[in-house]
Amino acid sequence: MKLLLLGLADIPLLRNRLRLTLGFDMDTLLKTPNKLGFFIPQFNGFERLCSNNPNSSKVKLCVKKRAIKIGSSSALLDLVPETKKESLDYDLPLYDPSMSRVVDLAIVGGGPAGLAVAQQVSEAGLSVISIDPSPKLIWPNNYGVWVDEFEAMDLLDCLDTTWSGAVVYIDNDGAKKDLSRPYGRVNRKQLKSKMLQKCIANGVKFHQSKVTNVVHEEENSTVVCSDGVKIQASVVLDATGFSRCLVQYDKPYNPGYQVAYGIVAEVDGHPFDVDKMVFMDWRDKHLDSYPELKERNSKIPTFLYAMPFSSNRIFLEETSLVARPGLRMEDIQERMVARLKHLGINVKRIEEDERCVIPMGGPLPVLPQRVVGIGGTAGMVHPSTGYMVARTLAAAPIVAKAIVRYLGGSTSGDSLRGDQLSAEVWRDLWPIERRRQREFFCFGMDILLKLDLEATRRFFDAFFDLEPRYWHGFLSSRLFLPELLVFGLSLFSHASNTSRLEIMTKGTVPLGVYLQLQAVG
Ligand SMILES: Cc1cc2nc3c(=O)[nH]c(=O)nc-3n(C[C@H](O)[C@H](O)[C@H](O)COP(=O)(O)OP(=O)(O)OC[C@H]3O[C@@H](n4cnc5c(N)ncnc54)[C@H](O)[C@@H]3O)c2cc1C
Repeated sequence: MKLLLLGLADIPLLRNRLRLTLGFDMDTLLKTPNKLGFFIPQFNGFERLCSNNPNSSKVKLCVKKRAIKIGSSSALLDLVPETKKESLDYDLPLYDPSMSRVVDLAIVGGGPAGLAVAQQVSEAGLSVISIDPSPKLIWPNNYGVWVDEFEAMDLLDCLDTTWSGAVVYIDNDGAKKDLSRPYGRVNRKQLKSKMLQKCIANGVKFHQSKVTNVVHEEENSTVVCSDGVKIQASVVLDATGFSRCLVQYDKPYNPGYQVAYGIVAEVDGHPFDVDKMVFMDWRDKHLDSYPELKERNSKIPTFLYAMPFSSNRIFLEETSLVARPGLRMEDIQERMVARLKHLGINVKRIEEDERCVIPMGGPLPVLPQRVVGIGGTAGMVHPSTGYMVARTLAAAPIVAKAIVRYLGGSTSGDSLRGDQLSAEVWRDLWPIERRRQREFFCFGMDILLKLDLEATRRFFDAFFDLEPRYWHGFLSSRLFLPELLVFGLSLFSHASNTSRLEIMTKGTVPLGVYLQLQAVG
């Protein structure tokens, strides 16, 4: 516990101690893209980007970022990536505030969710404005997806690496699962370029700013930007990810958190097969010499997720699947340092790193409400896995079609405005079967939250023994009730007796909540 209690001022101490105890330099991982500081989210959650968001006082969701000063003498600091911020070289057609006309759709946030809808609504001939503080910036996150998910959306050209399958290491005794489902890493540059090009061709206008507020009238809404520009639109879509800038929540926000630390690294070598990605490595042999770490890990386990690109280039991410409150970033990094040392992975250079904090589960936003949402802002992250990209991209046409139809852009649609229009869009995004599916996934998350390392291993041992259509469908949000119940029973029947007992004892409360929600819904 002592390491956990170390304050910021003790970080050099922590590094020295790790250097001594692990024989591996924490500076290799504790580095900063800008060489000035290294920011650690503290869990209670995230910073809300819109200071005047009426939700912000109700929902205690704020990131307190604290800078850790890292000494500059270590040669290993040379491994720090200079910067990972790369922008696309496009001349974006800009919104002209002097025109002051009402646009059909204002999209706040230019992440994958926002741009996907912008592209599709503009394709139908409606006027669209995309507002983002950094519209040309290549998205920073390393997205992994199952290849079949991208294939179904004709996006195979947006994967830069694919693996013929994946592997799950269950325990130290050699139990592992070979998953014959191809996996891919998203080429963020290609995906964003493709979307931006289509948006530009369809006449989407861009405004580089942060949105701070929205004011609604009966038919139209006015989006207020931090640079003072006001944009009037018939529909406002909040696609600001986990910042949830405009969308309102009326229930206490109590998600679990997936926390991970990842690096794309050049290494001397690694023990993994380059044809398979490592979906989960639950082995904990690397912690044998570190009883404190081992104890922590046995209670709230982390696993390694790895995408080997070649024999000496690899993406490595130490991940806490879900915890409430979320694990501290430095805890995750300590475990990663120990794991890499044990695996004999010597990091020579770090190309990029990511600190991943994903709220999972929690309530849906108020349904319906005037501002419509998609992606992180609309509760679309998979509550049991943290995955969202494929699901969001697949939902974009639903939101786009609804907006086009209800605005009267298509011949078959009845023209609607204001609250009525938004209500229809929300209904299409979150129909009852999707809400029931999400409740089931939240039920799954609530069970996962209660499992220690041994129980987690038994759970995944049974999970990946299921017929592929069940675990594929569960991970890709393709199973609905009543199939989900069959999935649950099948999982139960594959589980060991110990595991069944665990699911029964630890799942009773979540099951009660789930059944209650079903009764209300
Ligand atoms: C490090 C990391 C790794 C991840 N890896 C995976 C993965 O492997 N697979 C997967 O499926 N999912 C993954 N996720 C989940 C991931 O967040 C989502 O899949 C995806 O980024 C969400 O897309 P989005 O468009 O909803 O939001 P975001 O990508 O977060 O985009 C939101 C956009 O809104 C802008 N914005 C924010 N506030 C404002 C404002 N006030 N005004 C204007 N613009 C604003 C931001 O600048 C940003 O461009 C990962 C998440 C993280 C953080």
